Amino acid sequence: MLIVQKYGGTSVGSVERIRAVAERVKRAADAGNQVVAVVSAMSGETNKLIALAAEFSKTPSTREMDMLLSSGERVTSALLAIALTEMGYEAIALTGRQAGIVTDSVHTKARIEEIPAEPVMAQIKAGKIVVIAGFQGVTREGEVTTLGRGGSDLTAVAIAGAIKADLCEIYTDVDGVYTTDPRIEDKAKKLDKISYEEMLELASLGAKVLQNRSVELAKKLSVKVVTRNSFNENKGTTITSEEECMEKPIVSGVALDKNQARVSLIGIADRPGIAAEIFGALANAAINVDMIVQTVGQDGKTNLDFTIPATELETARKSLEGFGGALGRQEFDNEVCKLSIVGVGMKSHSGVAAEMFAALAKENINILMISTSEIKISVVVAKKYGELAVRILHATYELDK
Ligand code: ASP
Ligand code: MG
Repeated sequence: MLIVQKYGGTSVGSVERIRAVAERVKRAADAGNQVVAVVSAMSGETNKLIALAAEFSKTPSTREMDMLLSSGERVTSALLAIALTEMGYEAIALTGRQAGIVTDSVHTKARIEEIPAEPVMAQIKAGKIVVIAGFQGVTREGEVTTLGRGGSDLTAVAIAGAIKADLCEIYTDVDGVYTTDPRIEDKAKKLDKISYEEMLELASLGAKVLQNRSVELAKKLSVKVVTRNSFNENKGTTITSEEECMEKPIVSGVALDKNQARVSLIGIADRPGIAAEIFGALANAAINVDMIVQTVGQDGKTNLDFTIPATELETARKSLEGFGGALGRQEFDNEVCKLSIVGVGMKSHSGVAAEMFAALAKENINILMISTSEIKISVVVAKKYGELAVRILHATYELDK
């Protein structure tokens, strides 16, 4: 098999850890696989470099930041290649540029535009283990860029797509994706398999294993991803297409988002264009609106409820000030949270929502807002009930079984 293995910061966080990673790469190669390893900087290193730059400037040029930050991954890639060579393997470290990763020129958050398979495949064909410095690329003009924080995941998935790897293993310091946050429900179970779509909807549960942008890319390029713990031999969680998820569980996971606030506009003028104006003002303030509920109008008035990140509450309040009385009474509620159940099996099952609402009702938890998609049902409830509600829903859908 042709395998891409990505090792995150904690996995290469020390000399011993890099040695352990070399051992793991060796085992994959000994088993007859062709291996490409993509590495992050040693844990804490990127932050350290950012702090160093801050010693000199509050607003360092983003071009120079990329020169600086790309060095962290260069260190680990070279060290891993040296370690593998010492173990008797032919290995070569490549920077993003040498691996052929071409990006746009948005320094510090560049987007990958192109990766030809050839530079990496040429080394593979020459029998080498290829070690790639993650998180970086180069513009068509030859300027070094980085891909945004956590961007080594993106390098790994993009390379796996480019060389048509059979598998992209993402090694971190957790075992995989869980049915819910184990800190809230200790009966949370690690999932063996999950579809790209579910993973995207459960972003908060997967956040520690894989950057969301990488899941999107994996879906687009049909890269089969397995997230695994580099500190043990556990099997991890496979993230793949829905067709490959045979079981199609009705509910795969329960997610809780505490960083939500609700804005209620009660008695706004019910006329064409009012919603466009309100959400236009919020968009101008770069506020990301999530759920939106409008109730049926009466007597020329209607109500509009929506949720935004709690951190944006003040900005939202300010950007709505200009509307004056046209928005009726305004309420800003920080004491809410969003609960979501996600599962591809929902598409073909009825009654999932009813079951969810009944379970919450039984505990006297009031639902403030509801929204649904094909594979997700989300509700907004009072923040103080959030964790209890997670446990209730986890049990309702027997996710501990
Ligand atoms: N070293 C970079 C960061 O800390 C990229 C990565 O680790 O994925 O954000
Ligand atoms: Mg990372």
